[in-house]
Amino acid sequence: MKLNLKTALILCVLSAACMREEAAVSDLLLIGGQVIDGSGSEPVLADLAVAGERISFLGDAASAGIQARDTVQVEDLVVTPGFIDMHSHAELDADHGRDARAFLYQGITTVALGVDGGGGSDVASRLEGWLQEGIGVNAFLFVGHNAARRSVIGMEDRSPTNEELIEMRSFVRKGMEEGAYGLSSGLFYLPGNYAETEEVIELNHVAAAYPGAIYDTHDRDLGAAYPSFGYLNSIAEGIRIGEEAGTKVIFSHFNAQGAHNYGRAPEGAALIQEARERGVDVAGAHHSYTATQSNLRSYTIPGWVVAGGDTAMVRRFNDPDTLPIIDLQTREMLEIRGGAGNILFVDQRPDLNGKTLMQVADERRLSAPEAAREILRAGNAGVMNLRLYDDENTRHLAQIDWMMTCTDGRDPGPTRPITHPRAFGSFTKKLKELVIDDGLISLPFAIRSMTGLAADFLGWTDRGYLREGMVADITVLDLSEVQDMATYEAPHQYSEGTVHVLVNGVFSIRDGEVTVELAGKPLMRAGQVFDGLD
Ligand SMILES: [Zn+2]
Repeated sequence: MKLNLKTALILCVLSAACMREEAAVSDLLLIGGQVIDGSGSEPVLADLAVAGERISFLGDAASAGIQARDTVQVEDLVVTPGFIDMHSHAELDADHGRDARAFLYQGITTVALGVDGGGGSDVASRLEGWLQEGIGVNAFLFVGHNAARRSVIGMEDRSPTNEELIEMRSFVRKGMEEGAYGLSSGLFYLPGNYAETEEVIELNHVAAAYPGAIYDTHDRDLGAAYPSFGYLNSIAEGIRIGEEAGTKVIFSHFNAQGAHNYGRAPEGAALIQEARERGVDVAGAHHSYTATQSNLRSYTIPGWVVAGGDTAMVRRFNDPDTLPIIDLQTREMLEIRGGAGNILFVDQRPDLNGKTLMQVADERRLSAPEAAREILRAGNAGVMNLRLYDDENTRHLAQIDWMMTCTDGRDPGPTRPITHPRAFGSFTKKLKELVIDDGLISLPFAIRSMTGLAADFLGWTDRGYLREGMVADITVLDLSEVQDMATYEAPHQYSEGTVHVLVNGVFSIRDGEVTVELAGKPLMRAGQVFDGLD
């Protein structure tokens, strides 16, 4: 359904039914906002009308004679396309996360899931689940290398046989057939880390057969891997995987980790810039927090110790010949991460949650490596790594014109009091700190990094911009109020300043309140809406 009210108005002159038809097509009129269209252009004072799920008019509504059933004054407010979270862990499949309110309050209307190599191959059934149950934001999926590897060869630290590789390829093909945007990998994580580069290229070749396919990488090193693969080697590897297979590449949560890499993000960004200049469609997404969130095992136990799975890991913990090597290497890993005082538990277990590894070790009168192993015997634990990124890197990255925005966030719901605040504040923090307070980047530039830039990369033609005919994913901000409220100590606090959010033309936040309309849609490749299994 594509409506063009300007055309309709010209026809109206010839038609007695003019006023009646106009009233029929305009459901909503936002009057007098500063419209930032997502292209990077300066704001324009304009009214915006919505008919059904699409933007039907942009301009001076009074002089064009536009009328609507619902009129909302948005003077002094900024009207932008809904934000696109290019790397998300929104829990849309869970009751507590379905409405995605932590994301809506940041102005986000679409999230990318299945990232870090984790996406399963049952893409259609997941999209179908979202269609049946309803979701608060639009969402799309990647199929994951780690998931493919795990399903075929488990946690074994070896290359796949030819037969196994064929199975992994069919895993990826199934996901792509069912609408995945491409292959994601988490080469930092297990079992993805056990893979040679060539294996990922092989699988990415499968994705490359589908037009517009994207390789989404949580790259192997990021600056803090153990043993080090090299911050720059890791970026070069990600580019190579996309370039040789023939897909686009996006570096997720792009930055340089560890105090030894403070100030080094420009070197990594330069590698991407060079690749772009030789014609590779490679880009990145970032947020501006200095902590990461992952799990204790990944941050404290070398990959070889976990080969074969957790039972094999515990067997190695119990082996007196192996234990001293593990202990030494855990110390080295903690050193890279800034020490056990920087590892903060974000875990269901109340005796861990909100404490640092150093505090837990002191309480238990153990060394930090001993405490880590004791905890891991009972199961992996969620942790943040505080102070892993520095602001200088983040500020450099925010100014790059191919840098999109992401949360990397998961709202764990009511059961877990501590989580990374990025789930609640990544987009608003970037706006508040880097645009409103610092003026480091302009508002249209920041908005573009959250909207049109991502839409172009994703190959969308009808989302990501405020233009007539586009889907009405719209965010309305009060810049005097925009602020991330979530902190490391008290993360469960929604962002402020998000006055209205429309998802597919439906108010999902109105006057600062979530409507729980669940107006999001499952999206397949190229922005096509998934409309159900046949
Ligand atoms: Zn990641």
